[in-house]
Amino acid sequence: MRIPDIISLKQKVRPLQLFIDGRGQESTSGITIPVMNPATGEQLLTVPDAGAEDVDRAVRAARKSFESRAWRSMDGSRREKIIWRIGELIDNNKEELAALESLNNGKTYREALQGDIPPTADIFSYYAGWVRKIYGETIPVDGNFLNYTLREPVGVVGMITAWNYPMLLAAWKVAPALAAGCSMVIKPSELTPITTYKLAEYCLEAGVPEGVVNVVTGYGPTAGDAMARHMDIDKIAFTGSTRTARALLKASGESNLKHLSLELGGKSPNIIFPDADLERALDAAFWGIYANKGEVCSAGSRLLVHEKIYDEFVAQLAEKARTMKVGDPLDPATEMGSQINQVQLDRILSYIQSAVEEGAEVVCGGGRDTEGAKARGFFAKPTVFAHVRPEMKIAQEEIFGPVLAAIKFRDSDEAAEIANSTIYGLVSAVWTRDITVAHRLAQQIKAGSVWINAYNCFDSASPFGGYKQSGFGREMGPHALESYTQVKSVWVALD
Ligand code: NDP
Repeated sequence: MRIPDIISLKQKVRPLQLFIDGRGQESTSGITIPVMNPATGEQLLTVPDAGAEDVDRAVRAARKSFESRAWRSMDGSRREKIIWRIGELIDNNKEELAALESLNNGKTYREALQGDIPPTADIFSYYAGWVRKIYGETIPVDGNFLNYTLREPVGVVGMITAWNYPMLLAAWKVAPALAAGCSMVIKPSELTPITTYKLAEYCLEAGVPEGVVNVVTGYGPTAGDAMARHMDIDKIAFTGSTRTARALLKASGESNLKHLSLELGGKSPNIIFPDADLERALDAAFWGIYANKGEVCSAGSRLLVHEKIYDEFVAQLAEKARTMKVGDPLDPATEMGSQINQVQLDRILSYIQSAVEEGAEVVCGGGRDTEGAKARGFFAKPTVFAHVRPEMKIAQEEIFGPVLAAIKFRDSDEAAEIANSTIYGLVSAVWTRDITVAHRLAQQIKAGSVWINAYNCFDSASPFGGYKQSGFGREMGPHALESYTQVKSVWVALD
């Protein structure tokens, strides 16, 4: 594993501007936001604090490019090559991008290099192949008519993303939007804007016309809200919390009824039966919660273990967590890095406190990790709670941190009932060799993904998204394309 020279990389990192109409532009106010390295507390750079006027400038650039048809009417064979090229540029720069993601988010370099960047490159290869396969149909209607449909781009898309997988979450939206022929304005989380900016630069370098991909940096309640209320944005594609999703729905209702696709939080059940391959299940349960320091929408944060194996399984998992190497994200031996910021760390600590108060048992971890240089960052100890009851706060609410709630169940019906007992329904997993139990649970569980004898399976070709309050709409696969296109029905009288 080659880690780029971090000192020279930091020297290359310069203040970012807004990326509008194919070039860096200053914000109207000139006010900036510091962007930090959460593992050390160092400032990496600053980005503009965009306001409504800046958002409007970006939307106007996107609209102009959309109406010019420079992108959507370009030959499909050429657009396909350009989108493919974006994936190549990401792949060619994977070490630098992984290092930037690690420096800015606090995740380990290893995770960024293996988990974030390859699927970010791949989503462009995947949607490059769709460009010439998006078309309408001819419909045999009554009467003397020719009726056919056109599948057209939805228009200008506003993309608002979270900080946990900064470049990947943007790529899941940008790639299908480009394949569909849309123009876009992206607002990354102000905590992690660097790689989204890079993505926009790669789009331009690959040949996407100016104005098609724009980036505004700024806070949610100002820049994000201005996007949500903008009358000339046709759709918002959002990844973030259920709370913000409600604000977006309201803003859409109060403005131009823009389309929405919402990828939200989760409280996902990982269900372990005694007949499973317990060694594999243990490893998957461990990484299911501690990957990316638990700041994962699909984290297996509720571990449902059959009563026969509960004590032993939880004890083994806690032992692994106790010996986990938490520390410098750039050290190849580190297994878990820093939480994103003080707010997130405080949130995690307050959930730990509430679990203790409600009577759950801390088996390991249970607090902040301030050992040595970690005192400068926002490190949490990998935590396991046993004897968690399904109605407790830590079993109901998304913590977004390395805190596992282990719950006991008696049989598969009870497992299904507990699995479905939260407001969320993003993902789930079932570990058993009994195919009847596995497939029955796959039907009973209300979640957008069910993984059987596996955890965290993702592929650019397979849809991902939530049931219930985990959102609606799907990312990836042909399913995502539907939300970046709309259908027009054309009727031709033949007599
Ligand atoms: P937030 O909802 O707080 O923020 C997400 C984005 O929305 C940020 O860019 C934020 O801006 C912006 N935002 C905040 N308020 C508004 C507003 N009023 N109007 C418009 N935009 C706004 O979520 P977090 O960033 O805290 O991310 C964590 C959440 O994301 C978790 O719940 C997690 O489960 C979910 N998530 C879901 C995924 C999925 O695919 N289902 C994947 C990853 C995360 P700002 O920069 O100011 O915060």
